[in-house]
Amino acid sequence: MKILVLNCGSSSIKYQLFDMSADENVLAKGLLERIGQTIGIVNHTSIGKDKIKYETPIPNHTAGIEIIINLLLDKEVGVINSLSEIKAAGHRVAHGGEHFKNSVIINNDTITEISNCIQLAPLHNPANLKGILAVEKLIPGLPQVAVFDTSFHQSMPDYAYIYGIPYEYYENFEIRRYGFHGTSHKFVAEKAANMIGKNINDLKIISCHLGNGASITAIDRGASIDNSMGFTPVEGLIMGTRCGDLDVGALLFIMEKENLDTKQANDLVNKKSGVLGISGISSDMRDLENAAMQGNKRAKLALDVYAYKVKKYIGSYIAAMNGLDILIFTGGIGENSVHMREQITSNMEYLGIKIDKNINDSTKGVDAIISTKDSKVCTIVATTNEELVIARDTMRIVNDLN
Ligand code: ADP
Repeated sequence: MKILVLNCGSSSIKYQLFDMSADENVLAKGLLERIGQTIGIVNHTSIGKDKIKYETPIPNHTAGIEIIINLLLDKEVGVINSLSEIKAAGHRVAHGGEHFKNSVIINNDTITEISNCIQLAPLHNPANLKGILAVEKLIPGLPQVAVFDTSFHQSMPDYAYIYGIPYEYYENFEIRRYGFHGTSHKFVAEKAANMIGKNINDLKIISCHLGNGASITAIDRGASIDNSMGFTPVEGLIMGTRCGDLDVGALLFIMEKENLDTKQANDLVNKKSGVLGISGISSDMRDLENAAMQGNKRAKLALDVYAYKVKKYIGSYIAAMNGLDILIFTGGIGENSVHMREQITSNMEYLGIKIDKNINDSTKGVDAIISTKDSKVCTIVATTNEELVIARDTMRIVNDLN
């Protein structure tokens, strides 16, 4: 069964075509950028063939998906002979609000509900919907499935998601903590449980997804009970360019001092902050690690602030679950940054976390148990694959229909 997975952003589309019946192989993948601008960029790879990159206008998402379809069907670089080989499309949808607790088949009702969530994710949900409608137009009748970043966290208890503001903001505007990166956290938690041969329903797990965006989840016997992101992905950890937890009083002060409107304030906390803002150098962990090694003090400070925040969240989630069996690192930084993993987990023996330095040093981008044999908590590096989760959910839901 071939499944097209789409992740549509406001000006970009990421895609992968999976062959689920052949070991869940990826047949082709790519990225379209600068949709809606004068010139767009197409990056495409059919597995086993050379990468293709070219510029062409991509006026909208429908035009973008048409380009993808043509590449998949192309005589030279294509991987399918006919569109009928694609049996379903799976979409990453940013926000499912309180309505979506699981992935769903897309129909008129679900489209309406996803539209209702636009006010919660004004940048992301409209783009996700454009992708859905484009596929509907270009491949009529193709079953489509929506997989939400938020749905895994719908098991959070109310005391974890209610903010300390007047309750009517929750009642009237659905202002609460939602949590994100749900597909990744669920995937690596299940993988880590398998790696140690235990049932996820018997385990207390903390999963640290550290990429450009970053969040931590407490997973108690298979259910997410807290995630560090909140109403928006800006809450929680310090990220590449997002500030993470911030005294709202500080933001109000800056807005007043600098005369910022809400859009400028939004840019400040989402695009100019995080390790980029602290270091003044880069949002990329590799650049910061290099700069810190060469003696750059602000790069070192950014790394210290980053690691300290992750450490604090781990401690708080151990408290929330009254224990911990598995600590997971995933995402570009979690999977690859030996230094960051070491810095975060250092001096945590009291909480049962002990890392084997040699194994940690040699673990980059692969699944591995990196804790010592006598460590109470099993610490695991688990590579994530959000697209695969979307493809699996899509296949399951479409198969259930038949
Ligand atoms: P996204 O959230 O965009 O999917 P990724 O999960 O790919 O991001 O993570 C990107 C981050 O991973 C960047 O900060 C990058 O520097 C970091 N990263 C990737 N490889 C390494 C590495 N070898 N060492 C340290 N950091 C790395």
